[in-house]
Amino acid sequence: MITLKKALTLSTEELNKFKDELKAKIEANPELNAYIDVNNVGDGVPIAIKDNIQVKDWSVTSGSNILQGYIAPYNATVIDKLTNAGLSPFGRVNMDEFAMGSTTESSFYGKTLNPINADRVPGGSSGGSAAAVGAGLAIAALGSDTGGSIRQPAAFCGIVGMKPTYGRVSRYGLGAYASSLDQIGPMTQNVEDAAILYDIISGSDEKDSTNAGRDEKVTPNLNADRKLTIAVLPEYLKDASQDIKDAYAKAIEALKSAGHTIVEREMMDAKFDISAYYITATAEATTNLARYDGIRYGNRVDGKNLEDTFIQTRSNGFGDEVKRRILLGNFVLSSGYYEAYYVKAQKTRHIIKDNFERIFADVDLILSPVAPTVAPKFGELSKPMDMYLSDIYTISVNLAGLPALSLPISKNTDGMPVGLQLIAAAFDEQTLFDGSLSLETAINYQK
Ligand code: GLN
Repeated sequence: MITLKKALTLSTEELNKFKDELKAKIEANPELNAYIDVNNVGDGVPIAIKDNIQVKDWSVTSGSNILQGYIAPYNATVIDKLTNAGLSPFGRVNMDEFAMGSTTESSFYGKTLNPINADRVPGGSSGGSAAAVGAGLAIAALGSDTGGSIRQPAAFCGIVGMKPTYGRVSRYGLGAYASSLDQIGPMTQNVEDAAILYDIISGSDEKDSTNAGRDEKVTPNLNADRKLTIAVLPEYLKDASQDIKDAYAKAIEALKSAGHTIVEREMMDAKFDISAYYITATAEATTNLARYDGIRYGNRVDGKNLEDTFIQTRSNGFGDEVKRRILLGNFVLSSGYYEAYYVKAQKTRHIIKDNFERIFADVDLILSPVAPTVAPKFGELSKPMDMYLSDIYTISVNLAGLPALSLPISKNTDGMPVGLQLIAAAFDEQTLFDGSLSLETAINYQK
């Protein structure tokens, strides 16, 4: 598959030919189930769009039954930014329902397969985005990351996925999961393409009150030759499989050989991240999902009266994982439990943020696992608790609002990719991309 960088140099004629071929290739590979549909807009470079990002006049459903029939009345800001830069939304890609999950198995449209091994999950929740890019069915894709949903599927499918600093990329037009954690980001074949797509979608937007209003770009200054100080976390690796530990050791050697300084640091035990995240995320999700009542959006099941219509619509429209989280979110917010759970989670979130700030006082980047294992087989994470625990290495980054990039490092003996992530201080995307480009070059991963 051609890179985004290359695609941006093609003529309209060449692009149209390319898109016809791409569409044919997607239609010839339906079993992967990465795309929900292909629906080209405009003449630009085709980009796959996660099904929770509004594209005007498209059906946009967040992978849910409850939004069947909803047609987006406006573009998300990232979509306007894409089209202004000569790119075009090309197809909707699959995801876990309302971005809740780590495998894409909770989608209303059925599971997406891992392009490297069809017995394994592509990761989630942006599993369709990662599978499309990994299978050579997309030049690049947009995903969203609330607790790892860009970085983890990228790692499982052997591609690059980047989560920007909270506030860098407008959330206007993104179907909200947990508003204080969600960020849209690029999923690409390599680090340079990620930087290009990040530059296109990031920047100020008055339509999003949580947008940071920052417009600096990384590609003009992209520099893999900067010598950086990179923290490694020996203690933090205790929950990772041998595959991940081996890749971690390999990455450290590559970083050293590229001239970077490696220092050891400690992170707080990741079990606190899990608790703080699943309380915060479900509390916010409960509130965000309250709007799906059958009156304003998508699907409705008519009941005996208004209240019954709400109940029937929501009981019928939401899947099990979403219902579980609505219940949990309401519980942690209910009077009597609010102090014990929600308030405590917010305090823990602060401690996590402080922990990162202490580390970034004298290092440029942190090297961390993305997931404790390679992509699991279908069904392996069917117990909710096992699935939540598999998020240990990604969610602290969202709780602290930091930028991070996942890139492929090696393959295990079964040929499954192992990705690792670099994490940077808030708004230091420049260093994140510089260090990632350097690591990518030193590792020279072969697909
Ligand atoms: N797996 C995590 C969850 O289910 C993260 C999902 C995400 O980042 N959207 O909440």
